[in-house]
Amino acid sequence: MSKIKIAELFYSIQGEGRYMGVPSVFLRTFGCNFKCQGFGMPRGELSQEANNIDPAKYIDYKMLPLVSTGCDSYASWDPRFKDLSPMLTVDAIAERICEIIPHNEWRDEHLVITGGEPLLGWQRAYSDLLDHPKMQGLKEITFETNGTQKLTPDFKQYLHTWKSHHDKDFWREITFSVSAKLPCSGEKWEDAICPEIVCEYEEYGTAYLKFVIATEQDFEDAMTATKEFRAAGFTGHVYLMPVGGVESVYALNNRRVADLAMKNGLRYSDRLQVPLFKNEWGT
Ligand code: SF4
Repeated sequence: MSKIKIAELFYSIQGEGRYMGVPSVFLRTFGCNFKCQGFGMPRGELSQEANNIDPAKYIDYKMLPLVSTGCDSYASWDPRFKDLSPMLTVDAIAERICEIIPHNEWRDEHLVITGGEPLLGWQRAYSDLLDHPKMQGLKEITFETNGTQKLTPDFKQYLHTWKSHHDKDFWREITFSVSAKLPCSGEKWEDAICPEIVCEYEEYGTAYLKFVIATEQDFEDAMTATKEFRAAGFTGHVYLMPVGGVESVYALNNRRVADLAMKNGLRYSDRLQVPLFKNEWGT
């Protein structure tokens, strides 16, 4: 039976993007191809905040410190924290989901498969998970990806079956929420901006871009990246989202980023998990 290494599995409200406000199950897979140590740092500097956390002091995700710089989900990919993420069978995952949703079965809830980077090797397990008898009522699924991972031939074939279903009892809406990493993340442009890969996601579901913005330079980078995606044929929406995994940073940015989005006719994504839940683990 397929297994997935799970950093977190929890029920909350989606705070970002297309499904903002929708009750959602979050399945956070372990592993990422990036580190994003540049977030919240002066350009060219890398955060050491997560590196300074001693994993030996923590036995549970909920006890881990939040960081205000670098990747705010550092424990979902940093190997030093891997023992906090159990390898679970799809049976165990489906069972656990039914325990945590309000009616113990899927109704209006949406599933967010996030990370880390959820389109790394775990693609091989998603068909078993999504076809599980306890997942049958699920209708809407979002993959929160950094947009650098190609879909595998097997997973494309699987997604095609949902895309081609016209019977509403079998219909599923697949979304790729692509948080393409700009230079403010600390990642290299040529590794992070992958238009051909993201264009392919559009063949298997709805894809949109979500750029994290802290400064005018980030906005300009987002527009340069958008031009590259459009030139490759990308047709989806573009969201601007304020930087800020902690409330003090988020509050400095949210209104300014909303103004930038309005002025340029782009979509604004909040990060509702920050004002609502202080972005604690498990929210
Ligand atoms: S891509 Fe996402 S999960 Fe991976 S390091 Fe960057 S912010 Fe963190």
